[in-house]
Amino acid sequence: LRANFSVVKKENGAVNGLIAVIHDVTEQEQVDMERREFVANVSHELRTPLTTMKSYLEALQDGAVSDPQLATKFLDVTQMETERMIRLVNDLLQLSRLDTKDYKINLQRTDYVAFCDRIIDRFEMSKKQNIQFVRKLPEGTFYVQVDRDKLTQVIDNILSNAMKYSPEGGLITFRVIRKGQKIRTMISDQGVGIPKENLAKVFNRFYRVDRARSRKLGGTGLGLAIAKEMIEAQGGDIWAESEWNRGTTIHFILPLDREEV
Ligand code: ADP
Repeated sequence: LRANFSVVKKENGAVNGLIAVIHDVTEQEQVDMERREFVANVSHELRTPLTTMKSYLEALQDGAVSDPQLATKFLDVTQMETERMIRLVNDLLQLSRLDTKDYKINLQRTDYVAFCDRIIDRFEMSKKQNIQFVRKLPEGTFYVQVDRDKLTQVIDNILSNAMKYSPEGGLITFRVIRKGQKIRTMISDQGVGIPKENLAKVFNRFYRVDRARSRKLGGTGLGLAIAKEMIEAQGGDIWAESEWNRGTTIHFILPLDREEV
């Protein structure tokens, strides 16, 4: 539903009433609107790094090139912007393949705890910040049927976000619980959090709580949208829980391997 409001005024300008017209936006209109918004977003996201690169290249041409220190700095910026555009285009291509169902889910029986352990090990090895990982993984071995590459990408994205939005010395807790025929994974950080009213929107394409901050941290705004598509394609569900200034937990559920149930 979409509502348009008009204010009815008296001759002397005083407000006399309000007329609300409520439209039932058809599904097609909704799809069209979303598509237009998507194209506008893509254009904007590409224009921003291009504009930055253009001004830095102009500065180089105007003389900065003969100042080695300045030149290096300006070239670094253009390189970073180029890399961000490549990430953005790769994310867009991936979303487009997910949209057109032009992909294969390659399900493999996977020892889930060992799988998670390996991903956390990798993050622990490469961590650039002072962040500690806490593992709360169940005892024993159990199997899930997952597309390992896709699930690795999902968890990588959630963990990178947790790191990006964490304070120095923060804890990131990786918890896995087996419940009935399902496995629940919870990844919590002690970072800035997400305001309640924005929680569901973080899975929308290009949605960011703080656009400038996300850009500065190199984000494309597509990571969680891709994660959602991938989890749903594997028969799962994903959502976020958060307290502003306290931290965020991303939950996702996957079905257990049938032989395990
Ligand atoms: P981005 O590339 O901007 O990180 P994502 O799709 O991965 O895009 O996330 C969308 C938005 O959700 C982010 O811009 C950020 O505002 C919010 N967000 C995601 N994860 C976290 C987190 N762990 N803590 C705080 N905010 C988060």
